[in-house]
Amino acid sequence: MSVDKVFWPAPYQRELEARVNTVDGNQITLDRTIIFAFSGGQQSDDGTIGGRPVLAAEKRGREIYYTLADGHGLKAGDGVRLTIDWPLRYRLMKLHFAAELALELVYRNYGHPERIGANITADKARLDFRWEGSIASIIPDLQAQMDRLIAEDHPIRSDFSDPAAEQRYWEIEGFARVACGGTHLQRTGEIGPVRLKRNNPGKGKERLEIFLKD
Ligand SMILES: [Zn+2]
Repeated sequence: MSVDKVFWPAPYQRELEARVNTVDGNQITLDRTIIFAFSGGQQSDDGTIGGRPVLAAEKRGREIYYTLADGHGLKAGDGVRLTIDWPLRYRLMKLHFAAELALELVYRNYGHPERIGANITADKARLDFRWEGSIASIIPDLQAQMDRLIAEDHPIRSDFSDPAAEQRYWEIEGFARVACGGTHLQRTGEIGPVRLKRNNPGKGKERLEIFLKD
């Protein structure tokens, strides 16, 4: 039985009571969790387990392994309070969803170029495309479309497409339905103002960077 991923149905939850499932040296598993582990380009949360900082969170199959410091003293069956760094998580959720919107807009309006990379950190989101020429020419138009989707404050629905396989999606009615196992906002307006920028152009490869303005 793998960990119950409470960060999916409750992506705004900052604390959770849980139980230690297994302990293998510095690595532990839990019965339930709100601490996201790197997946789909979204970085792991910073968090604590029973007051101990999580040094790493790694998803293997459906399980999540949390690494704690030496001498953590936890054993299987212990009750622990989990916390996450909420300002960081919320920032990641905004940048993650801004990247989702930008990707959908680029796919549908600019010939569905191949995406060859994606990464979301606290500073920015980036999307890399196989692209001849410069992406600079589309940025003003893309920025306007992004601004409109955010201003229209669309509701975002997230759910399982296949609960047994833990396959998730997000959907904006009339816009898109996309498979993704990240944590998603409830409304596009939460993203707030964004700035799009071209960077690091290489031959046949273009990078779109997304920054939060606040
Ligand atoms: Zn996503």
